[in-house]
Amino acid sequence: GSVTLERVREYVWEIPPTDGMRVPARVLASEQLLDEISDDKTLEQLQNSAHLPGVQKYTLCMPDGHQGYGFPVGGVAGIDTEDGCISPGAVGYDINCGVRMLTTPLEYADVQGHEEELVDRLFAAVPSGLGGGGVYEGSVEDVDAILERGMDWALEQGYATEADLEHCEDEGYRPEGDASVVSEKAKNRGKEQVGSLGSGNHFLEVQRVTDVYREDVATEFGLSPDQIVVLIHCGSRGLGHQVCTDYLRQIEKRHGDLLAQLPDKELAAAPAGSQLADEYYRAMCAAINFAWVNRQLVMHRTRDVLTDVFGVEREDLELLYDVAHNIAKKEVHDVDGEDRELYVHRKGATRAFPAGRPELPPAYADVGQPVIIPGSMGAGSYVLRGGENSLAETFGSTAHGAGRLMSRTQAKQEYWGEDVRDDLRDHQHVYVKAQSGATVAEEAPGVYKDVDEVVRVSDALGIGDRVARTFPVCNVKG
Ligand code: 5GP
Ligand code: MN
Ligand code: MN
Repeated sequence: GSVTLERVREYVWEIPPTDGMRVPARVLASEQLLDEISDDKTLEQLQNSAHLPGVQKYTLCMPDGHQGYGFPVGGVAGIDTEDGCISPGAVGYDINCGVRMLTTPLEYADVQGHEEELVDRLFAAVPSGLGGGGVYEGSVEDVDAILERGMDWALEQGYATEADLEHCEDEGYRPEGDASVVSEKAKNRGKEQVGSLGSGNHFLEVQRVTDVYREDVATEFGLSPDQIVVLIHCGSRGLGHQVCTDYLRQIEKRHGDLLAQLPDKELAAAPAGSQLADEYYRAMCAAINFAWVNRQLVMHRTRDVLTDVFGVEREDLELLYDVAHNIAKKEVHDVDGEDRELYVHRKGATRAFPAGRPELPPAYADVGQPVIIPGSMGAGSYVLRGGENSLAETFGSTAHGAGRLMSRTQAKQEYWGEDVRDDLRDHQHVYVKAQSGATVAEEAPGVYKDVDEVVRVSDALGIGDRVARTFPVCNVKG
C-alpha cells in the first residue's frame, strides 16, 4: 500500500493520522533500516495498528521492526485499559517469547578447544526441536501450578534460586495468571514441553563478551571483556500458541462489531472491560508464567553442563536478567501530563525501563534494567540498559533483535544448512548444532538485519543504551 511518512527528526518518522487512524504512527529507524522495510507490509501494518480503539499518543515500530501477523514484529502500542482494547495479534503467538542471559566466571580461553564437547553436551541436555519432550514431564495439574505460580513453582521444585527470581522481569511471576481460562488443549500441548527450546529461531548460545561501551554499567551488570555468557531464547511453546489461537477465534466471533471497524482482521481485539478482554489477559499472563518456567528449566540444565564440563560453582552462574519480548501488560504511563493505565503491547519489542521505575528489582533500581538484544549466530548480540528517553518516547521500550530481512521460504532458497554451519565454524569459530539443516538455513546470519545498526539507533535515541557486545562461541538451534 502507499503510506505517507514524514521525518520528525533524526531516526524518527511519522505516519500522520488519516482516515480511521486515531493517533499517528511512528517508525524509529535510520534511512538504511527504513529502506529495508519499504517493500513489505510493515508500514501498512503499523498504520493499521493506529486504528485500535483507545490507542494513546502514537503506535510505534522499533528499529528492528518487520512485518508480522497483523501487527509488526517490533511493534509497540499503549492502549487505555478503561476505554481501549487488547489485541492478541499485537502480543504475538509465542506469548512471552523472550531472552535471558546467564553470566559465568569463565573466560574465552577456558572454553577454546572445548567448543565441540560443550555444544554436544548442551544439545544432549536441553530438549529442542518441534515435538515433545521437556526437562520436566508433568501432568495437567503440574501445568496448572506453573500457569498460576510461574517461577515460584520452579523455586519450590528446586529448579531456581531466590536470586533467579529477583533477576527476572516481574520476578518471573504474573499474579493474574489463571489456569481456568486456558484450554485443555493448550495444557496438553504444554505438559510435554516444560523446559524445551522449541524450533527454528529459538536457541541457546554460549557467547564471549567482545566490547564494553559503558564500563560503570557493565560492572554493575557483572560483565567484562572476554567473559563467557550464555543467552537463552525461547517462549511458551505450543501452550502459548494455543492460547493465542483460542482467543483470536473467540474474539473474532464475539466482537465482530469492533472487528468491522478495523482495516485488518488479524488485528482482532477485545474491548476493555469485556469478559473476553479479561479472560484473554488472565490466560496470557498464565502463558507468560509458563514461558518463564520454560526458560528457567533450560537454564537449570545449562548450569548442570557448565558445572560438569568446567568445574565451576553453580552459584557463580548468575542470571543477569530475563526479558520478555512478546507481551501485553498493564503499566502506568504519562500521557499528556496525566498518569494513565495502559495495556502496553510489545510484540518483538523489549521493555527498557530506566533507573527509577518502581517495577525494577533492587539490583537495577539505580542503573536501569538490562535489555538483551540477540543478533544472529554469526553476528554480535548486545546488552543495553533501559534509556532515559524510553518513557517519553516509546512507553519504555526498545528493539528485541536484529529483525528478519527475508522469509524462511526465501532463506531456504538462498542457503544450504550444512554450508552455513561449516562456514560459521571455519571462518568465525562458531560451533552450531541443530535438529535439522533446514533450521540452520532459515536462521543463516544473512537472513537478519544489521544488529549493530539497530543498536546504534536505539542508543542514539536514548531509549536503550549500549553497554556491551557479545559474539557467539557455540549455538544450539531449536
Ligand atoms: P524472534 O524472537 O523475533 O524470533 O528473534 C529475535 C531475534 O533473535 C532475531 O531478530 C535475531 O536478531 C536474533 N537471533 C535469531 N537467531 C539467533 C541466533 O542463533 N543467535 C543470536 N545471537 N541471535 C539470533
Ligand atoms: Mn518465539
Ligand atoms: Mn523471540
